[in-house]
Amino acid sequence: MPVRPTAALRLAVNAVNLSTLLGLAVAYVGRARVTVAHEGLFVARGFTLGARTAPAFTVGNVIILRLDDEALARRPRLLVHEARHATQYAWCIGPLFLPLYLAAAGWSWLRARDFASYNVFERLAGLEDGGYPPPPRRRSRPSRR
Ligand SMILES: [Zn+2]
Repeated sequence: MPVRPTAALRLAVNAVNLSTLLGLAVAYVGRARVTVAHEGLFVARGFTLGARTAPAFTVGNVIILRLDDEALARRPRLLVHEARHATQYAWCIGPLFLPLYLAAAGWSWLRARDFASYNVFERLAGLEDGGYPPPPRRRSRPSRR
């Protein structure tokens, strides 16, 4: 399966920074079945641990799914969204992504009472592709004239 040079670079960076290894360990602990996907990514299906709030999450180059194949087929852009998170791991030196993501999610919660609307990582990964609603529109202040 041919891999674009940028995807090959992401695969190498996330291997060296150990985030993909961490993702494979998380998938193993969650009893997920790991398969090789496109662009150097791995998809782990059948993850069993934790709350089912997110249908998918990504650790390094490993996309961990809580959806079955039928539900995934109804959300064809979800893997594109998660692949962007894999790229974000590479940019953030691997596991350092996690505290940065949590801080961004906290910032979003403070602004909009949800973890995605103002989370820079979710916005860059594509809110709509991830199944998130668009950020709430801010009410404009009345002018003081
Ligand atoms: Zn996301």
